[in-house]
Amino acid sequence: MAIEKTLVLLKPCTLQRGLVGEITNIFERKGLHLCGVKMMQLTDEILSEHYAHLSSKPFFQRVKDSMMTAPVIAMCWQGVDAIAAVRALAGPTNGRNAAPGTIRGSYCMSFQENIVHASDSPETAAVELARFFKPEEIIEWKQCTFDYLYANDEF
Ligand code: ADP
Repeated sequence: MAIEKTLVLLKPCTLQRGLVGEITNIFERKGLHLCGVKMMQLTDEILSEHYAHLSSKPFFQRVKDSMMTAPVIAMCWQGVDAIAAVRALAGPTNGRNAAPGTIRGSYCMSFQENIVHASDSPETAAVELARFFKPEEIIEWKQCTFDYLYANDEF
């Protein structure tokens, strides 16, 4: 168990559908701690890096194009085991297969237009946070509810 930071992107579909507040509320309600947030218009360059693991897929360009149709909201969320906790909240990639109650299971019908991106490992989270945030844009501040969110042997 460790206190971790993870990257979440609210995708263009989430902004277009007016779900920014609702999805943000899910992370807040869970007890995650917001350490960075900004709106960004992504470029093909940053997306080619971000989705490099998909570069051989036939849908690579389509996924990148979709991520450039409107801005995204980039967020840094912190918590104990935050990376896995956020992935579990997001659910599997294809919204049609995602369990009800997960973000993708509750809010989308698509493999591609699936509401959020969430880092999938500590290594990826570190690289992705550095890709989307300057160090000074990640702000350390005291979460005054911390003692009520965790037992003292949980971090
Ligand atoms: P995840 O976002 O769940 O970590 P991946 O890293 O595999 O999934 O894929 C990145 C994004 O590319 C997905 O969130 C989705 O928007 C898109 N994508 C992945 N696989 C497909 C697919 N088979 N068809 C359409 N879009 C896909």
